[in-house]
Amino acid sequence: MEQTPKETKKKETAAKRRAPAKKKAAPAEAPAPAETAAAVPAEPGPVSEPRCSVVFIGSECYPFIKTGGLGDVMYALPRALIKQNCDVRVILPRYKCIPQKYQEKMVRRGEFWMDLCEDGRSFYVGIMECVMDGVVYDFIDNEEFFGWGRPYTNLVDDIPKFCYFSKASLAALNYMDQVPDVIHCHDWQAGLVPVFLRTLFANTPVGSAKSMITIHNLRFQGIYNIPTLKYWTALPGWCFDYTVLKQGYEDANMFKGGLACADMITTVSGTYAGEIQTPYYGENLDAHLRHHAGKLHGIVNGIDVEQWDSRSDALLAACYDAENVLEKKRENKRALQARLGLREDDGKMVIGLISRLTDQKGLDLINADMGAFLDGNTQIVVLGTGDARYEEAFRLYEEANPGVVRACIMYDEALAHLIYAGADALLVPSQFEPCGLTQLIAMRYGTVPIVRETGGLKDTVQPFNTYTDEGNGFTFDRYDAGLLLDAVIRAKTLFFTERERWDEMVRRNMEKDVSWENSAAQYRELYLRLK
Ligand code: ADP
Repeated sequence: MEQTPKETKKKETAAKRRAPAKKKAAPAEAPAPAETAAAVPAEPGPVSEPRCSVVFIGSECYPFIKTGGLGDVMYALPRALIKQNCDVRVILPRYKCIPQKYQEKMVRRGEFWMDLCEDGRSFYVGIMECVMDGVVYDFIDNEEFFGWGRPYTNLVDDIPKFCYFSKASLAALNYMDQVPDVIHCHDWQAGLVPVFLRTLFANTPVGSAKSMITIHNLRFQGIYNIPTLKYWTALPGWCFDYTVLKQGYEDANMFKGGLACADMITTVSGTYAGEIQTPYYGENLDAHLRHHAGKLHGIVNGIDVEQWDSRSDALLAACYDAENVLEKKRENKRALQARLGLREDDGKMVIGLISRLTDQKGLDLINADMGAFLDGNTQIVVLGTGDARYEEAFRLYEEANPGVVRACIMYDEALAHLIYAGADALLVPSQFEPCGLTQLIAMRYGTVPIVRETGGLKDTVQPFNTYTDEGNGFTFDRYDAGLLLDAVIRAKTLFFTERERWDEMVRRNMEKDVSWENSAAQYRELYLRLK
């Protein structure tokens, strides 16, 4: 692998040498010099120099295991980075629930025993590896921790599980003799990685790597009592100080420790980076984050535009691009209505909601407004699982409004694709939203987002301006059911009374750049700063 940068350089030097020769061979009536230069670039293409190596450590990654946006980012960002001259390795737990077809692709890279606990208890670490599209995936294998059905269960099990995972990931890098420039950790499940790196691994090969930690959602932090965390980590006493892991009187907070020890912190949008430094959004870590604000950066997420491509999406009833979106979206709408048993009618406005059904996602606002949404011309499709009270509420709305409301209380990737394509608008009225991906996917599929102006929603959805015809969706600011209703009514008014202007927005959204290219370049820039 170390040969690659040299090889790239060699190729580029050769390309540089060849370029002038081509110029010389151009006929006398060749265009003016400026145009010639454009046609035959003297400099090589935009290959990002220098090369850098990164290891991602996180708890989920599409297509192996995904419960939310973290899984999407762990999949898409590495793929975008390798296009920008980075070596990327992703370390994940080998959950039993990873589909068999991926389990079969894995080969055993090695195995060893690792001391973990305060009393010297040691655990088996297997490393299973597979390579997909240039990204190397290493799965930490241990039946005792990962042999369960789901990636997250409850804190009693999850705390030891992710203490083990964080330490095993670093031990695996040493074992494989893979020391990257930067170790990029994601969310609380990998929060102890920077802490281990600064302490128990400081004098080992991997100790020379720099660390970055990304906050995908600050609500979940991995908090447990100090004796338990002391036992499962065997970290030195000073780590349980207020400046690192300690929180309150007797707890330790894994995310807090990671934020303290990492060389850099990022979060998934600029607005959220500011918000989490305030008490309202800071989840009790706002002061800690203000203290570390000098190393905190916000970079907005993108989506994988190959995975989410309406021109080739096999899960749609009809594929489409910005040219034929209006006609084909109608076909998808009819297919969606037929599949879900909604009244098949092009004229209805279909509003979708694809979400974890939790407080974060603004479901109490939707609940409060549901009756008002249903005006005889609107259909509502909900896809999600989560808190029983929301699941139950949507089921009741479905029962009371047959053919008009459909509550799909499940996780269904294929149905999500059809909803993105078949719905006219998508609701994302979150109480807080670090970035949010559903609004990005919606725009890419020509669906108009209706969002609250918070976090990444604010950074990615420009409100529709009725005077200039600019913008991508409908927005509201305060967390208030009346304001959500107002935004939905504004959307409906445009949809039902000025369809050409709505259709223009649909086309505009499809052409909006929601890819990872720009954001991956910003991550790369930060890696190089750390290197
Ligand atoms: P979060 O990570 O907070 O759950 P995001 O908007 O960042 O929210 O990411 C949600 C991702 O999960 C999107 O890719 C969305 O399509 C997907 N998703 C959410 N709920 C479901 C579901 N019930 N079925 C299929 N996909 C879902």
